[in-house]
Amino acid sequence: MKIAILSQDSSLYSTRRLKEAGEQLGHEMRVVDYLRCYMNITAHKPTVVYQGKPLEDCDAIIPRIGASQTFYGTAVVRQFEVMGVFSANESQAISRSRDKLRCLQILSREGIGLPVTGFAHSTKDIDGLIEIVGGAPLVIKLLEGTQGIGVVLAETHQAAKSVIEAFRGLNANILVQEFIKEAGGMDLRCFVIGEKVVASMKRQGAPGEFRSNLHRGGTAEKIKLTPEERSTAIRAAKAMGLRVAGVDLLRSNHGPVVMEVNSSPGLEGIEKATETNVASKIIEFLEKNAAKGKNRDRIQY
Ligand code: ADP
Ligand code: MG
Repeated sequence: MKIAILSQDSSLYSTRRLKEAGEQLGHEMRVVDYLRCYMNITAHKPTVVYQGKPLEDCDAIIPRIGASQTFYGTAVVRQFEVMGVFSANESQAISRSRDKLRCLQILSREGIGLPVTGFAHSTKDIDGLIEIVGGAPLVIKLLEGTQGIGVVLAETHQAAKSVIEAFRGLNANILVQEFIKEAGGMDLRCFVIGEKVVASMKRQGAPGEFRSNLHRGGTAEKIKLTPEERSTAIRAAKAMGLRVAGVDLLRSNHGPVVMEVNSSPGLEGIEKATETNVASKIIEFLEKNAAKGKNRDRIQY
């Protein structure tokens, strides 16, 4: 097959590994910087042009859209979809997953376990908002943060109020969440492809840090999931309409809760911690599913 990896940087670990894995399986792999793609939107022969030439007869794409480039990145993915090219993740599903609030609303609709979460517009409603999630300590998150930046633990009601007021004063959209203390700074990353968890690891935050992000100094280790955790991860990816997803769970007193679902999960941490060739599994998934006309998002939110 001819497979394009949409990535801004061909030297990134995930991009390199996908290219290598595809080549090993006999495919023609190409890294395409989606910010340098342009397109003609026409009924006759829609195309994507890259480096002056139309990208023709692509069989599948693997989008690796950076969080700060969601708008243009998903427009390029959508153009491939219009052309009938199969995408490892569809544009709609990527957009959906980028907004933490929308993501949680979709998961709640499916009855998937979540930390109790509140959202409000006006700072006049802060006290009620704090009450909804059971009071302090609580977690405050920027709606579009990544890598743990913009996630704050407020230990007291007063601290929570000040932080919420400060964020809202800057016009930032935030959500407020029950603090799952019993997780002890640990979360589970479940790598889902199709309807399977192909690898899973636990991430533990640095001492004194409640955020387990590897970018914040967390460490990763392979872990075996319970059947409930496994099925929660698969249901979450499916509810979001994602074929390839990194589902993050916390172990709470009331069972596994989903914190977020990532549409471009990194390969480095998970491949190293679990010694699994996740990149090949993505390519194999494309081999099985990339028949023309298979793009179809059915989620209505
Ligand atoms: P980001 O998208 O920036 O990674 P997350 O929502 O994943 O933001 O939060 C970052 C980290 O903070 C998580 O991996 C987890 O360790 C910790 N965390 C987030 N929300 C909670 C919560 N409600 N209770 C306990 N820990 C949390
Ligand atoms: Mg996270």
